[in-house]
Amino acid sequence: MTAVLTIDLADVDRYADALSAAAKAIATGDVVEAREIIGPIAFERWEGRLRYAANAGTTSDPVERRARDVTDRMRAQVFLRDEMTCTYCGGRCIPRNVLVAFSDLFPDELPYHQNYRRGAIHPMYWALAPEADHTLAHARGGTGDIANLTTLHTMCNARKSDSLVTELPTVDRPAHVVGWDGLLEAYRSIVALGNSHGRRHSAAGYHRRWLRHFSLEPV
Ligand SMILES: [Zn+2]
Repeated sequence: MTAVLTIDLADVDRYADALSAAAKAIATGDVVEAREIIGPIAFERWEGRLRYAANAGTTSDPVERRARDVTDRMRAQVFLRDEMTCTYCGGRCIPRNVLVAFSDLFPDELPYHQNYRRGAIHPMYWALAPEADHTLAHARGGTGDIANLTTLHTMCNARKSDSLVTELPTVDRPAHVVGWDGLLEAYRSIVALGNSHGRRHSAAGYHRRWLRHFSLEPV
C-alpha cells in the first residue's frame, strides 16, 4: 500500500493514462491484462488533507443547501458539454461513476469510499472525478442552471472553495485532449465485467441510473 499525500496534474495524466489502457483490455474481456496495466497505480491510498467540498459547511449554509438543487442528470450534461475536461486546470476528468465501476472490478487495487475517507480511497477520485460547480457562487448571486455550472476536478473544486474560478492562481494547462470522453464508451463493459468478477460498492441501480443520465444503453 502506498500513502499519497499530494496530487497534481502529473497524477491526473498518470491515472487517466493507466485507466484508459485498462479500459481497452476490459473492452476485450481481459481482466488479467487490465489488472496488470493498472499495476503501477494499484494499492495507492489517499492520506492527504484536501476537504471534500460537497460535504463542506453545515446544512444551514445556504450555498451548500442550494447546491443540492443540481441533479445528477444536470451534472452529466455539464460534464459532456465541457468534454470531460476540468475548466480550471485543463486536465482530463473521468466521472465518479466510471471510477466506481473500476473499483467494483478491482476493489483492493483501486479502493473506493463514498465519504472519501482518508486512508480508504484511491487518490484517483480526487485527481479525476469531476464536480459540477457554480461559476458564480450562490452567495454572489449565481443561479443553479446549467449555464452557471462548470466542470472541475474534485481536487480543483476543493482548492477553489467559494472563491471564483477566475480568482485562482493560473496553471500551465496541458494540451486539450481531442475526443476525450471520460471513458464513457468503456463504461458499460467495465460495469459488466465488475458484475461478473468484482464486488459492488454502490446501491443496486447506481450504474443503471448513471448509464441513463449519460444516455447510454443499460448493461
Ligand atoms: Zn482540475
